[in-house]
Amino acid sequence: MSNDPKNGSTDNPASSNFLRGIIEDDLASGRHANRTDKNGQPLPQVVTRFPPEPNGYLHIGHAKSICLNFGLARDFDGRCTMRFDDTNPTKEEQEYVDTILDSVKWLGFGWKDASGDHLYFASDYFDQMYAMAEYLITAGHAYIDSQSADDMAKNRGNFGEPGKNSPFRDRPVEESLDLFRRMKAGEFKDGEHILRAKIDMASPNMNMRDPAIYRIRHAHHHRTGDKWCVYPMYDFAHPIEDAIENVTHSLCTLEFQDHRPFYNWVLDHLAEGGFFKKPLPHQYEFARLNLTYAITSKRKLLQLVEEKIVDGWDDPRMPTIVGIRRRGYTPEAIQLFTDRIGVAKADSWIDMSTLEGALRDDLDAKAPRATAVLRPLKLIIDNFPEGETVECSAPVHPHHPERGNRSFPISRELWIEQEDFMEVPSKGYFRLFPGNKVRLRYGYVVECVGADKGADGNVIAVHCTYFPDSKSGTEGSANYKVKGNIHWVSAAHALEAEVRLYDRLFTDAHPDAGGKDFKQALNPNSKEVITAYLEPGLSSAQPDEKFQFERHGYFVADRIDSKAGKPVFNRAVTLKDSWGK
Ligand code: ATP
Ligand code: MG
Repeated sequence: MSNDPKNGSTDNPASSNFLRGIIEDDLASGRHANRTDKNGQPLPQVVTRFPPEPNGYLHIGHAKSICLNFGLARDFDGRCTMRFDDTNPTKEEQEYVDTILDSVKWLGFGWKDASGDHLYFASDYFDQMYAMAEYLITAGHAYIDSQSADDMAKNRGNFGEPGKNSPFRDRPVEESLDLFRRMKAGEFKDGEHILRAKIDMASPNMNMRDPAIYRIRHAHHHRTGDKWCVYPMYDFAHPIEDAIENVTHSLCTLEFQDHRPFYNWVLDHLAEGGFFKKPLPHQYEFARLNLTYAITSKRKLLQLVEEKIVDGWDDPRMPTIVGIRRRGYTPEAIQLFTDRIGVAKADSWIDMSTLEGALRDDLDAKAPRATAVLRPLKLIIDNFPEGETVECSAPVHPHHPERGNRSFPISRELWIEQEDFMEVPSKGYFRLFPGNKVRLRYGYVVECVGADKGADGNVIAVHCTYFPDSKSGTEGSANYKVKGNIHWVSAAHALEAEVRLYDRLFTDAHPDAGGKDFKQALNPNSKEVITAYLEPGLSSAQPDEKFQFERHGYFVADRIDSKAGKPVFNRAVTLKDSWGK
C-alpha cells in the first residue's frame, strides 16, 4: 500500500476519498480560478478550514478532519485556515485554544504560508456578522421574534406537520431593526427576543423553518469580554466565517447535510447584499469517524475526566490527541490510519485494530529493539563464575544493520519471564523445563537443572548450566541446535522501571451506541502498573522515545513522568492483535 499522500486514492483502492475527485473536477473547470482576496492578492483554488470549537480537547475524530482539511490543502497547493469557531461564549476557554493548536502542530500541520498567518477566531468577525444581520432585517429577510421559547418550539411543528408563522413575523422592518439594536445595547434579558431568518415555516426541512440567527446571551466571552450580549447562532456564523476566509470547500460531518440549504441561503442573500462575491464556498459532508472500543463525544470524554475514571485528558487510554500521543502514537501512524480508512459518504465503524495496526506498521520500521522482562523469575547459571560478566551484543534493528548494535552484560543471575519456565512442560512447550536446553537470546545455550521452591510451593528460582562455547555470534554456537529462544536481563545490571500496561478502555465494541451507559462497559484491566527489569541501556531513553520490547510490543518512555535516568514506560500496543482471540 502506498503511504504517499500525493498518490491519493488513485492507486490505493483501500483508501478512497471522494473529495479528491470533486476538487480535481473543480480545478479542471477553473471554478475558483482567478480569485483575489480583499487586498487584491491572488487566492489559491483550494481553500479549506479546520474549525474546532474551543470547548474541549481534540480526539481521533478531529484528527481525521485535520488530516483531511490540511492534507487536501497541501496536496492541491491550497490553503487551510485554522479557525476557532468561538461564537458560543459560555463553553469556551483559552486552555482549549492552546491544546488544540498544539495538537494540530504535533500532527504535522501549520497555518502560516508565504501569504500570511491563517489563524482566525470567529469572534473577530462579530462586527461583520452583526452588520450582515442588520442587512438581512433591512432587506426583509429576517425579523425579531418575541414569542416565548415554549411557543416558538410549539409553532415549529415537526416532521409530519408544518410549523405556524409567528405572530411577530410580519412586524415592520423598522420595529425589528430597533429591537435588534436594543438587544445589542443590552436592554433585554436572555431569551426575551430572538432574530430569525424569514424563510418558510412549512418547509419539509426543519432547518429552514425560520431558523434563529442571533440570540441574547449575557455572558463573558474568552476573547471579546463583555463587549457583546448578542451572539450569532452556529448555522448563521459558519457560512459567513467560510466566506470571509475565502473557503472553497467547506467539509463537515454528515449530520450537517440538512443544514446545507440554510448555509446556501445565508451566503446567497449576503452575496445579493454585496457582502460576498461569487463563487461562494460550498459545503460537502463526509462520514464522521466512529471508532470501536472508544467514545468520541467531547461531552462523554469530559465525564471520564471529571469522574476520574481516567487520569486526565492525556491519560494514555483516552482517544484524545494528547492521550494517544502519550500512549506512544506517532503523527505518522495517525496519518497512515487516516489514509487507510479513507473518506466516505456514509457513516460506518472503524475497528480499533485498524488504528493499532497503523501504529505497529509505523513503529516496526523505526523503533529500536530492547529487552524487557515484565513478569520476572530468577534464573541462576550454576557454572557461571560469580562476579564475572561477559558482554553480549544485539542489533538495534534487525532490518537496519547500519543502525549498529547495542550491548549488555550477562552474568550468573538473570531475570527471565515466568512463562518461560514450566516444571512439568505442557505438550509442545520447548522453553525451560528440567533437562531441556534453550538459547538465551544473544547469549549462551543453557540446560535447565532444576528449580527452588518457596514454602508455598511456588517456584522462586530456576537453575541451569551454560555451555561456554555456545555464545551467539561465535563459531561454536552452530553446534547447538535448540528449539527454544528466550530473553533475559542480568539481575545485577538490569534497569528497574515502572511499566504501565495499557489496554482498551472498554470491553464493548460500541460502548455508547444507542444511548447505552458506557460506564457499564469499562474494561477493569485497562491499566496495570508493574515493576519490570529492562536492558540497562534503556536508562538513557528520552521522554517520547519508542522501543520494541522484543516479544512484548511497542513501548514509549512516558513524556510526563519519566525522569533523567529513570524512564517510565507505557505500552503503546502489543506485537500482535490478540484482542478477542
Ligand atoms: P461537539 O461534540 O462539541 O459538537 P465536535 O466533535 O463537533 O464537537 P468541533 O470542535 O465542532 O467538534 O469539530 C471541529 C471539526 O472536527 C468539525 O469540522 C467536525 O466536523 C470535525 N469532527 C468532529 N468530530 C469528528 C469525527 N468523529 N470524525 C470526523 N470529523 C470530526
Ligand atoms: Mg461541533
